[in-house]
Amino acid sequence: MPFPFQQAAFILDKLMNHGFDAYIVGGAIRDHLLGRPIHDIDVATSAHPADVMSLFKRTIPIGIEHGTVAVLSGGQAYEVTTYRAESGYDDFRHPNQVSFDVSLDQDLMRRDFTINAFAMDRSGQVIDLFGGKADIMQKKIRTVGLAEERISEDPLRIMRGIRFASELCFTLGQKEVTAFRAKSDLLKHISVERINQEMNRLLAGKGVHQAIRILENTGCVHALPLLENVDLKKLYDVDFSFLQTSEERWSAFLIAVGLHDVHVFARAWKWSRESEKKVYELTTLYNALKRNPWTAESVYFAGLSNAFAANRLLAAFGILTNELLMQYDQQVHLLWQASTIHTRSDIAATGHHFIQWSETKPGPWLAKVINTLEKEIVNGRVTNDLGEIEAWFRKWQISQKKQS
Ligand code: ATP
Ligand code: MG
Repeated sequence: MPFPFQQAAFILDKLMNHGFDAYIVGGAIRDHLLGRPIHDIDVATSAHPADVMSLFKRTIPIGIEHGTVAVLSGGQAYEVTTYRAESGYDDFRHPNQVSFDVSLDQDLMRRDFTINAFAMDRSGQVIDLFGGKADIMQKKIRTVGLAEERISEDPLRIMRGIRFASELCFTLGQKEVTAFRAKSDLLKHISVERINQEMNRLLAGKGVHQAIRILENTGCVHALPLLENVDLKKLYDVDFSFLQTSEERWSAFLIAVGLHDVHVFARAWKWSRESEKKVYELTTLYNALKRNPWTAESVYFAGLSNAFAANRLLAAFGILTNELLMQYDQQVHLLWQASTIHTRSDIAATGHHFIQWSETKPGPWLAKVINTLEKEIVNGRVTNDLGEIEAWFRKWQISQKKQS
């Protein structure tokens, strides 16, 4: 059997030449067996972090307390972790005790799911102690050992399990379903950042509908912040495959489950300011767009990328067919290209000009002028030319005086 991780072979070779054991472990083997792209390659070894750091030229101690050192080579970082066993998880997350100097078997035993508990030796032989290959064949997510026990140790495994179900289009084993249901409340002990990370990947998976069904059937969804009382049914009508970013997927999620206050949700889920802003903008645009088609003004204020994203949301909800989506995108393009300005800084006049022309001090009137002018230019009623803008401004001043 040829060794499929040639780029990491030098790590196993060097460790073994110095008398240590070394294997490829974890997700890389799972993804290799499934024919999926490999992201990162992890190594498990009997060598201690100090040995690893002395054997390789470029290393970073990224988690010494867990025994992990990154070995850098060819622009890649390989995580090399000393065999370890864990015991006691009183806080539902961090083991009370981590012990090194254990065997490969014990190291594999601490891993979450059978499909994540493979090791591969330098000859390409897969070590499969827990029936991971059979589970891959049956497309099953099963824990290593007793599901309830393994979930109680670390309830994040619930979210990881459902996320893998989504990404791989797998289902849960029966015992896992029962354990997830029985232990769903323990998710409240997991940091919302970790839950959010898993949800981002869950919503991006090909099997997202299947995963949502698991969240629903196990009741796990109700242990997540602000989702105590939501009904996920409407999510089955959303075609997530149209959506390209986490923010687009969360927008669809919130629209479908009827959670309207993006800011409250963003705070509870500790989103970044940028994500919060994006989801707010996209949900607002979606609602506006459901009522009115694109105009020069709405495209300008949305910006090109938000406009396309809003079109994708309409498609995800079945409001646009594929063909209509293309038409909407084309229309956005045309309106964008036809506009003589794309941002406020494209306006030929600046605040200074208006202050000069009016011989008045700056004040709230200035923002009002610029806001009005911006719309006039976008709608093609004023040309973006200094002379034309000055003429428009003179008239505007007169109309304001008449009003007051
Ligand atoms: P991906 O990189 O696609 O998320 P992965 O399986 O590589 O998948 P990582 O989070 O990179 O996941 O973890 C690497 C390995 O570490 C896993 O394959 C698993 O064996 C083990 N592992 C990770 N998180 C846990 C956990 N919470 N409990 C037990 N084992 C875990
Ligand atoms: Mg990984």
